[in-house]
Amino acid sequence: MTSARLDSLTSWHSDWKGLRVAVLGLSVTGFAAADTLTELGAEVLVLTEQAAEEYARLVPVIGARLWTGPLDTVPDELVAFAPDVVVASPGFAPRHPLVEWTRAGGIALWGDIELAWRVRDKVSRPDGRPADWILITGTNGKTTTTRLTATMLVAGGLRAAPVGNIGTPVLDAVRDPAGFDALVVELSSHQLWYLGLQSGPEPVSPHAAVCLNLADDHLEWHGSADAYRDAKAHVYDNTRAVCLYNKADAATLRMVEDAEVVDGARAIGFDLGVPGPSDLGVVDGILVDRAFLDDRRTSALELTTVADLREIGLAAPHVVSNILAAAGLARSLGVTPRQIHDALRGFRLDPHRIEVVAVDGGVTWVDDSKATNPHAAGSSLAAYPGAVWIVGGLLKGVDISELVARRGGTAKAAIVIGTDRVAVVAAFGRHAPGVPVFEVDAPETENVMAQVVEIAAEVARDGDVVLLAPAAASFDQFSSYADRGRRFAAAVRERIGRGTDGGEADSSSSGGPA
Ligand code: ADP
Repeated sequence: MTSARLDSLTSWHSDWKGLRVAVLGLSVTGFAAADTLTELGAEVLVLTEQAAEEYARLVPVIGARLWTGPLDTVPDELVAFAPDVVVASPGFAPRHPLVEWTRAGGIALWGDIELAWRVRDKVSRPDGRPADWILITGTNGKTTTTRLTATMLVAGGLRAAPVGNIGTPVLDAVRDPAGFDALVVELSSHQLWYLGLQSGPEPVSPHAAVCLNLADDHLEWHGSADAYRDAKAHVYDNTRAVCLYNKADAATLRMVEDAEVVDGARAIGFDLGVPGPSDLGVVDGILVDRAFLDDRRTSALELTTVADLREIGLAAPHVVSNILAAAGLARSLGVTPRQIHDALRGFRLDPHRIEVVAVDGGVTWVDDSKATNPHAAGSSLAAYPGAVWIVGGLLKGVDISELVARRGGTAKAAIVIGTDRVAVVAAFGRHAPGVPVFEVDAPETENVMAQVVEIAAEVARDGDVVLLAPAAASFDQFSSYADRGRRFAAAVRERIGRGTDGGEADSSSSGGPA
């Protein structure tokens, strides 16, 4: 395959016929890639360790071939297939043997986002242009900000959808016959690592982009904190109009300063402080835009107020920060402050994101199971100082002691779950020795939250908040963060149903203060 042929593949209408493509992975993303490529006339071999029955059945139906088996070594079938391009699902890490084989052999390696960009003109707008893309990443707040932005764009009369890491592959959106004015693309660090490999003549070039914040996460996948940061920074590559950065997180400004962007693209900041010209921020409880108006030296546009947001449960500081970011992105495509205000009125956070699951006997039970890393848990603890904090799980190679040092001391008590408990308990011993720590060592998933809730109910008093914000992944004990949150809520309801005097903490199995 000549690189000229690959370079020519920049449109749905390019000649994709006979292109040999190996697709790695067969979940929602891998299937969308295989489906797109066969529709374009490419020859597709899908390789996966395991396939869900439905996908396995569909692969031959769409005209692709499926190879299932261990992928810790390069299968002979892949070598014999001699692909021109390998399209990898985001789960395939840089040091995966198939990824290394592809790169060592000089074979083009694309992620699903690059493929989607190349074929983004399948359905055009009335003026002939494809949809604008808005790219959103960050360690935390991606999904919320992506949904907020899409909601604001729709309120502004644009046909827009939240896509990417949020659930719907971008490839499905670009093939939607209805077409879009704008796609709001949530990108994981994995997808951004693949974007950094792009070498073609027309790399992904968003209208606007944001990295919301940066803290350690997914270090096992990337290999180091620097590699994780470098991947995230690709969100700003080739931005055309607006690079939005978080003034409270210097790492995001540095990414913008170092990015190769299209001439004329503006850098716009946001945070919870008073905004300078070209920023969004908060003045006396009013969220304002000082970036998208002509006389920004002397005036500002009101978007909404913290008091209005409080009424609809959106006033936690990290949520306000996400709202400012989303408003900046929406303003970059012409949505008015009034439309942003109206969009927010109907907006609700997704489940398991600082979700109040019960208020009983003066105690508020909050499920922030989606706080899967220390940075996220830190923002929840900032919103609920003095909470009884349920923490722990799989730490993914991330050090939790900095969070415990910074915020742990404000907790009323800590209830520690998960397999990596030793590190968490030790962090409290060193950095917040005054906080009572309870370890939950229930081996059975079914019992974990029942024990947690029994302990929390003993500790919490009228006016307290019990906060599930684990700062860790859930897969050691639960099938997902959602499963963890659901089991927590169920245990709370069970406890409340029995009445507050209904049970005693089982100190023999749940442990006392450590
Ligand atoms: P992501 O898609 O990046 O995981 P979500 O919007 O689903 O982000 O939020 C995940 C969790 O991260 C939330 O439950 C909350 O604890 C935390 N969070 C959300 N936004 C922020 C933010 N801007 N800064 C810090 N933490 C945040």
